[in-house]
Amino acid sequence: MNLMPEFRCHHPASLDEAVKLKSSLPESRFLGGGTDLIVNLRRGLGEPSDLIDLGGIADYGSVRQVDGALWVGAGITLAELARRPEIASTYPALATAALAVAGPTHRASATLGGNLCQDTRCIFYNQSDWWREGNGFCLKYKGDRCHVVVKSDRCYATYHGDIAPVLIALGAEAAILAPAGMRRAAIETLYREDGAQYLTLAPEEALAAVVLPPPVAGRRVGYEKARVRDAVDFPLAGVAVALRREGDVLAELRVAITGTNSAPLLLNTADLIGKPWDEAAATRLVEILRKTANVLRTTVTGAKYRRRALHRMTRGLIDRLWNDDGQVEQG
Ligand SMILES: Cc1cc2nc3c(=O)[nH]c(=O)nc-3n(C[C@H](O)[C@H](O)[C@H](O)COP(=O)(O)OP(=O)(O)OC[C@H]3O[C@@H](n4cnc5c(N)ncnc54)[C@H](O)[C@@H]3O)c2cc1C
Repeated sequence: MNLMPEFRCHHPASLDEAVKLKSSLPESRFLGGGTDLIVNLRRGLGEPSDLIDLGGIADYGSVRQVDGALWVGAGITLAELARRPEIASTYPALATAALAVAGPTHRASATLGGNLCQDTRCIFYNQSDWWREGNGFCLKYKGDRCHVVVKSDRCYATYHGDIAPVLIALGAEAAILAPAGMRRAAIETLYREDGAQYLTLAPEEALAAVVLPPPVAGRRVGYEKARVRDAVDFPLAGVAVALRREGDVLAELRVAITGTNSAPLLLNTADLIGKPWDEAAATRLVEILRKTANVLRTTVTGAKYRRRALHRMTRGLIDRLWNDDGQVEQG
């Protein structure tokens, strides 16, 4: 661990004040629960001039119904997210994903906003400063080459967040605040496939809330992740599925993956809609997964295992939701 770098800490009273501060301080960072950012700073990954602590903002973690949609403030802790009756009863797959993040002490302070905006990860990046220096640093930070894909001109660090895929499968949106005002965007558009520049948010923009769409009748939603330690671990691969069955055909199938690429991704499942979920459909889905998931040597666990786990989990989860075996989560 490194010593903490020197920085000033600000405690704005409102999110408006926070985004104004951010735009006047180009080297600053927002601070949620700090369970991602502070760990990285202790490893010498970043030297912000200022931290803008969002923790004291009133209503930043509030939950409210607006026209049938549920607005969940980005400051809600993951422990609270999993506990809220509105979430547990209507969007239980979201509660499942929140409970799958890290351990209980992390979840007590980790926020929804910090989870969605968490840094990408790689075995050549999440290391001590001296280790990275010995390796000539890397394209994500301080270096000029990617050690995962050596001839690449972009970073392949992987996004390992648990919450984003569920929100993508649900068709949720982000409410984003900038000094100029609020805008809304589908969760999947917050990300880009570049491990170093993985967020599409402008530097002065903050995630204010997540907007969960009204529940869809007959929709079944689930989330699964593969990890080494059940107690505390990032997803080596994760998959969220929202499925609606009409008789013997799929009326809706939204599949979002994490832990495989530099961004959480929504699969293009258009050619499976209107057809039964059978062996042919499962084979086609594995083809789509092969084309979309780009599992590389970014974790200690081998890429081949992660690829297989992803295929197996996705197949199993869709089987389960299709058959509605009583353990299915409506959402
Ligand atoms: C041992 C360990 C295990 C972990 N396991 C998991 C896991 O299994 N699954 C998982 O998903 N994560 C895991 N994490 C990562 C992390 O704990 C969680 O992602 C957590 O939810 C991050 O939230 P936070 O509020 O602490 O974020 P912070 O650390 O405060 O912030 C993270 C990033 O988000 C930015 N940010 C925060 N809020 C906003 C906002 N409102 N708008 C814009 N940017 C913002 C910050 O500037 C920073 O760049 C783990 C971390 C550790 C240390």
